[in-house]
Amino acid sequence: MINILDELTINKISAGEVVERPSSAIKELIENSIDANSTKISIEIIDGGKELIKIVDNGDGISSNEVEKAFLRHATSKIKKIDDLYDLYSLGFRGEALASISAVSKVEMVTKTKDEVIGTKIVLHGGKIISKEPCSSNNGTIIIIRDIFFNTPARKKFLKSSKTEASNISDIINKLAISNPNIRFDYKNSNNKILLTPGNNKFLDVISSIHGRDIAKNLINIDYTGKIKINGYIGNNNIFRSNRNFQYINVNKRLVKSKILLDAILEAYKGILPINKHAICFLNIFVDPSTIDVNIHPTKLEVKFENENEVYTILKDTIRNSLLNSTLTGKFDYKIDTIKKYEKPKEIIPLNIESEKISKFENIKDLSLDIYVENSKLNDKALEAKETFYQESLFKKEYNKINFNDFSFVGTIFDTYIIISNKEKMYILDQHVVHEKILYEKYMNKFINSSIDIQILLDPIILQLYNNDISKIENNIDLFKKFGFEIEIFGNNHIMIRGVPNMFKIPESQNFILELIDNIDSINSSYDLKEEKIASLACKKAIKANDKISEFEVKSLLKNLSECENPFTCPHGRPIIVEFTKNEIEKMFKRI
Ligand code: ADP
Ligand code: MG
Repeated sequence: MINILDELTINKISAGEVVERPSSAIKELIENSIDANSTKISIEIIDGGKELIKIVDNGDGISSNEVEKAFLRHATSKIKKIDDLYDLYSLGFRGEALASISAVSKVEMVTKTKDEVIGTKIVLHGGKIISKEPCSSNNGTIIIIRDIFFNTPARKKFLKSSKTEASNISDIINKLAISNPNIRFDYKNSNNKILLTPGNNKFLDVISSIHGRDIAKNLINIDYTGKIKINGYIGNNNIFRSNRNFQYINVNKRLVKSKILLDAILEAYKGILPINKHAICFLNIFVDPSTIDVNIHPTKLEVKFENENEVYTILKDTIRNSLLNSTLTGKFDYKIDTIKKYEKPKEIIPLNIESEKISKFENIKDLSLDIYVENSKLNDKALEAKETFYQESLFKKEYNKINFNDFSFVGTIFDTYIIISNKEKMYILDQHVVHEKILYEKYMNKFINSSIDIQILLDPIILQLYNNDISKIENNIDLFKKFGFEIEIFGNNHIMIRGVPNMFKIPESQNFILELIDNIDSINSSYDLKEEKIASLACKKAIKANDKISEFEVKSLLKNLSECENPFTCPHGRPIIVEFTKNEIEKMFKRI
């Protein structure tokens, strides 16, 4: 027998999609408050939201004669017809949330518009209206959800511990607060104050109230206006995470996920952060709404750009330029170190809480944003955009150069580290990394301009190799040539190196070729572009370990370094320069 499902059953089923858990209900409800032009939203939960969720806003409210309608499926004030979907700035628009949430919980709503003298209170249990009556109220809406999933025990069983549900909720609230700096968010968990944002429309203030001042002070402001608009903050090289949970991207005020945008961020930070580490960033991107396609499933926030190539390049260049225009010296975290060594355990507490908070964040898999696989491959379009980027020479731009002029040479330690200082600070530089970086940039520049000078060897180097290795060389012979290595294969198992790049000496070239053969498989399968890997390998070979270095050589190294595009981090993202200020050193010695 075929049955037509009744409205209540349909709502219960659809609740499974829209409200999977308390945090998803909260997301829908807060988005409703945002859409209703609220400037203050307070949220309270008990027992991870399972027992109670209460949201109070000061928004538009719902007029008495519309209150029941709001709880009907496909009841929405936000769109009238399908065309409206495409130039939409509001958050929810399927008219499903209230119907779904009320189908699986006990709801009480008190609401009043500014035009009404008295408000309305409505109570629903499992989607059925229990009562509706006039009620005194402020302008805005209070909604209380009790006993979520009381009538769907199967669903209730899938809920996690109250602690886990609560941290999912915090995560959602943090994200919504970051997306809406003009709204004051006040969030309590069983009477414990968790979050209060100022709502003063200052992006950095809201970031700081959520992520703390240590993150906020390591952020770089970015701003771009052109075909699209970008503003926000990006982390410098002193802050990063091992996943992408701290990459907030709003497109037209909507928190989205987009592979192309994440790839642009990854690419922009290449060589600035250590490998496998991810940047922290808070970005607002504004595009003409008619040029994007937002997946309208309420829990998915995927966005597709009409011209994704262009968006990719603009975002990547904007971030990269801002990074290279800032000072990216490494910082020695003396606070953590001294506390670990010298202070009593009691005084560690604030630090522990902080790091616990951070690791908690990292563990939370956001319901809607967790999908990206680490080290995902750039897609073809992105690669193409990268090529254009090289051709259009970012490399030629002038960046904020580091100036060593007023620094004097103090000495070297462990035959490896150079120490220089001026009145205010001391820098420690890794001599080998400095050298490697200088060579790397020169080499890459020459490679990009196809101007690597080759020295033809009077006595070619002959190397005997295994068959397997010969085919590796054969497959990459053109690439070697681009890098200044003229190689010929002869016989079954010999290669002849006829020419090498001018900047290398002969034994180094030989070692380089051998090392390259050993690494060629991993280079070919690597996420990084082959060329960069090869260049960095070559430069590693070209520098010698543990050389004593004279003051004269230090000066010329520093001069060359200051002319680098990015003098702060090596091709693998490790710091080249670590800074200690006089002030920090005095603190270490407890002088201040
Ligand atoms: P949608 O948000 O997709 O329109 P909902 O079921 O979430 O659907 O809400 C239905 C309608 O109820 C909304 O379109 C809006 O008119 C009204 N509404 C819901 N919450 C609020 C609120 N906090 N303040 C004002 N109006 C609200
Ligand atoms: Mg809604």
